[in-house]
Amino acid sequence: MGPRIAELFLQKGIQTAEDLLYFFPYKYLDRSRLESIRNLKVGQASVVGRVLSSGLLFFGRGKRRLFEVLLGDETGAVSLKWFHFYPQQMKGRFQKGQALLVSGEVTLYRGEPQFVHPQVELLEADLLDEVAAPGIIPTYSQISGLGQKTVRKVIRNCFERASFSDPLPEELRTRRRLVPKKEALYGIHFPAPDSSVEELNNGRSAGHYREIFEEFFLMELGLALKRRQARGEPGIPFTIEETRRVDWQGQLPFDLTKAQRQALNEIYSDMGRGAPMNRLLQGDVGSGKTIVSLLAAVAAIENGYQVALMAPTEILAEQHCRTAQKILAPFKIPVGLLLGSQTALEKERNRSRIRRGLFSLVIGTHALISDGVQFAKLGLVIIDEQHRFGVLQRMALRQKGEEGSLVPDVLVMTATPIPRTLAMTVYGDLDLSIIDEMPPGRQPTRTQVIESRNRGMLYGIIREVLERKEQGYVVYPLIEESEKLALKDATQMCEELKKILPEHRIALLHGRIVADEKETIFRKFRAGEVDLLVSTTVIEVGVDVPNATLMVIEHADRFGLSQLHQLRGRIGRGAKAGSCLLVSDYRKTENAYRRLEVMCATNDGFRIAEEDLKIRGAGDFLGTRQSGLPDLRVANLLRDYPILKVAREEAFQLIDNDPGLLSHSVLKQELLRRWKERLALSDVG
Ligand code: ADP
Ligand code: MG
Repeated sequence: MGPRIAELFLQKGIQTAEDLLYFFPYKYLDRSRLESIRNLKVGQASVVGRVLSSGLLFFGRGKRRLFEVLLGDETGAVSLKWFHFYPQQMKGRFQKGQALLVSGEVTLYRGEPQFVHPQVELLEADLLDEVAAPGIIPTYSQISGLGQKTVRKVIRNCFERASFSDPLPEELRTRRRLVPKKEALYGIHFPAPDSSVEELNNGRSAGHYREIFEEFFLMELGLALKRRQARGEPGIPFTIEETRRVDWQGQLPFDLTKAQRQALNEIYSDMGRGAPMNRLLQGDVGSGKTIVSLLAAVAAIENGYQVALMAPTEILAEQHCRTAQKILAPFKIPVGLLLGSQTALEKERNRSRIRRGLFSLVIGTHALISDGVQFAKLGLVIIDEQHRFGVLQRMALRQKGEEGSLVPDVLVMTATPIPRTLAMTVYGDLDLSIIDEMPPGRQPTRTQVIESRNRGMLYGIIREVLERKEQGYVVYPLIEESEKLALKDATQMCEELKKILPEHRIALLHGRIVADEKETIFRKFRAGEVDLLVSTTVIEVGVDVPNATLMVIEHADRFGLSQLHQLRGRIGRGAKAGSCLLVSDYRKTENAYRRLEVMCATNDGFRIAEEDLKIRGAGDFLGTRQSGLPDLRVANLLRDYPILKVAREEAFQLIDNDPGLLSHSVLKQELLRRWKERLALSDVG
């Protein structure tokens, strides 16, 4: 292609032949399914045509209105009608001569066919000509300045010139009936006229299937290698006697739940082995993961090792530190805290104590993986809230022990529940423990939506809660582009509430407040010296104040489901029932409505995760970018889960048989290319 066209592709991020070949049509049109307008009959139908005219009409003595578009093809014209619409939007939407693809139910009005509230899609003008030809028409997402025809021509050229190598072993391809790479890609861009349009549109054509398989296969291959490597390293066989376990648990202020005991047993059994532990501990907010991890820490410390606990924020690190000091008081374990915000002197002193082994348990933020931190004898690494840390950071912390020493165990905790099957597959290099039970005596939190015009009601509820001497949070979402706006909203709300509730102590917390002061405000809240916290920063994941029973979330529709669930998890942590109020004009959008409905309907984190997954899509849900996995460009974790399972089996099998990929050189190259620096070279032998 010439430089002008290349430039246009570049704007869509398409730079190489590979990029181009992986620019898949997002949709396929089946010419044979289209009706000509003259032949329209009552029932479902799709037509293609051009806009002849459009406009607003009045009827019923001018009291009612409708919007009408007249659509024509070579055979005739048909009327498209809307009775519910925003006039401004409709007027801008249609122009004379535009090509449209219209689908919907055909009905008769005075003997003439019509579409009422059809689905309408704008077609590019040059696509319309092709629609006249038979067969299947792939449709690419728009590249400005380029017509569909040009895109197709360039791609066809590319096929003629590019060379293809197939990373999938032939034996595997034959066994799993996967088409060769070139054939797969070609079929995606230029499907044979007799292909199934359904399959193409659902990503299930032979070509799509193969490409999805390959993508998953390479992802799982990397995970299999990581897992194999981790298992092969020399770990620490901790001695954990049954009588000691009982002893430790006896020191707690409560009995562990059955699920906690089960998870702890799995952890202890890993720790007792010679191979390093790599375990993910999943549990809903408030299910009591922290205690479990601290008991794991006790075991490591009694064996003479140090433990590092890494949290995503300073507030959380400090909270863990307090919990640890409280829970571990009977064990007389020296606990240290290392934070980025400490003075240079403090940090140096802490680092020195870590180095000399004076702290047995060290709690901190990212500061723990900074240079200069060296442990005397690191035995266990605990990482809280996994989704904020990637695989790489996990590795970095693991390497903080002395040179040549045994590899520490790793326990990762996450409160973002992921459906079990998905977690197994995506965190393929981690073993999984799940706490699926809440500590006894918890009252379920009641959730309701309040529309923002009902502020009066909201204030009434806040007053009631505070009068019962319980505490609460009011949270504003922090939207990147308008930190100022959120701050303004929160400040106003705080002032207003102070006026309405002068006898209660209300504090404002926002991103601009320095860490020190934030901590002071939190301390007061924890101590019950502040009744209501109005905040722009999301109340940190994991904050634990049992007397807080009210969570008001403003602009609730701007939060994701998992985030809402996390926030709601801040309350109802004691014996008193919590109340969560989602302030939103939630009828605004379909999506917002669905999300908030789910929140009101259930408190179950796993169900919410599943819904969230459906609404958001898996890539966004898991934040694959952050998780250290290669990006998925073809596959969709949700839709394609069955393929993932097969690909995973095959990948683990292959690594078992050929751990160094010695007889799979093309595959090995491709693997390294996809995973890049995320897969240390040593992993592949
Ligand atoms: P998570 O980190 O899983 O969100 P936490 O470990 O912070 O949950 O525990 C939430 C609260 O429940 C804490 O106040 C903790 O002391 C308490 N808790 C944990 N386990 C139990 C238990 N078995 N019985 C009673 N309370 C518990
Ligand atoms: Mg926690």
